Amino acid sequence: MPLDFNFIENLIGLQDIKVIFVNVNNGIVEIHAESKTHSVSCPKCNKTTYKVHDYRIQLYEHLPICDKTTILHLKIRRYICECDFNHPFDEAFSFIRKYQPHTIYHLKSLSLNLRAKTL
Ligand SMILES: [Zn+2]
Repeated sequence: MPLDFNFIENLIGLQDIKVIFVNVNNGIVEIHAESKTHSVSCPKCNKTTYKVHDYRIQLYEHLPICDKTTILHLKIRRYICECDFNHPFDEAFSFIRKYQPHTIYHLKSLSLNLRAKTL
């Protein structure tokens, strides 16, 4: 029976991503996903660009599923705009803060657990 990726997308609760592949390896849930959108606004000139410069896979820890560590393997596109070909820029996701190895939801969960332990 094929896996219903819509179910996985709803389960993990992250906006605007498409789940491509799910794997459970050594008790770790690995969710491979990419953005559903294929264009972004340039941060310099605000025009919409569709030109992908390249992409990379970035790993983020997300909320556990069935008490298993969940790692999101996110394909992040780097776009380029005609206003500045020398400075490609990453697409942005609402659930990620720059330079953080966790999703925002995982960070909130960690801080709530820490607060509960100190009370
Ligand atoms: Zn631009």
